Amino acid sequence: MKIILIGYPCSGKGTQAKFISNKYKIPKISTGDLLRSIILKKTTKDTLEIKKKIDSGQLIPDNIIISIIQKRISKKDCLNGYILDGFPRTINQAKIMEKNNLKIDYVIELLIPKKSVLKRMLGRQIHEKSGRVYHKIYNPPKQKNKDDITGEKLVTRKDDTKQIIQKRLNEYDFFKKKIINYYKSKHKLNKLKFIKINAKKKLFIIQKKIIKFLKK
Ligand code: AMP
Repeated sequence: MKIILIGYPCSGKGTQAKFISNKYKIPKISTGDLLRSIILKKTTKDTLEIKKKIDSGQLIPDNIIISIIQKRISKKDCLNGYILDGFPRTINQAKIMEKNNLKIDYVIELLIPKKSVLKRMLGRQIHEKSGRVYHKIYNPPKQKNKDDITGEKLVTRKDDTKQIIQKRLNEYDFFKKKIINYYKSKHKLNKLKFIKINAKKKLFIIQKKIIKFLKK
């Protein structure tokens, strides 16, 4: 089962990916998490360049992303499939993926209005090593500013500021239509299944829809 989740930042992709990962026992692969963990592990000219791009809301070049994702999905735990969160971000990434025979079975688009994104993003905190996500109001940690599992400090992402969020949303808008049309055309040819889900609905309703869709 190979799944792609598409949606604005903070549309709930991470939460749904975690749900699918637990239910179907396939790994959740977030290119953002992979990049952040690479930055945490090493400080080199290249990782500093990546960090600069992420912090300012710019996309990382396709060749770097493709090599990171290929390395990750060649691991044993991906044999039965995976859920991709944050990849592909450009039509070029989607096409390279297909060229390399990385076939996708399901594409889920999570829809949420732009103004809700800002509300969800401002106040978000993450545990950098694991990628666990909290929100000061909607999903607070048990202990203020501390990760529930390790007790380590939570941080606010440098790219979660109003200005950078706006830039990331514009970047998403720029590529989204092309990527969605690309997967819709594959859907019409019966090469994969595609669904749009209103991500403003209650969590259990979204999850019920996902389960039904993944049975198809
Ligand atoms: P995310 O955690 O998905 O919000 O991603 C954070 C940042 O990582 C993005 O704003 C980009 O700078 C970078 N990034 C993540 N995934 C990709 C991708 N597939 N292509 C290019 N840049 C990416």
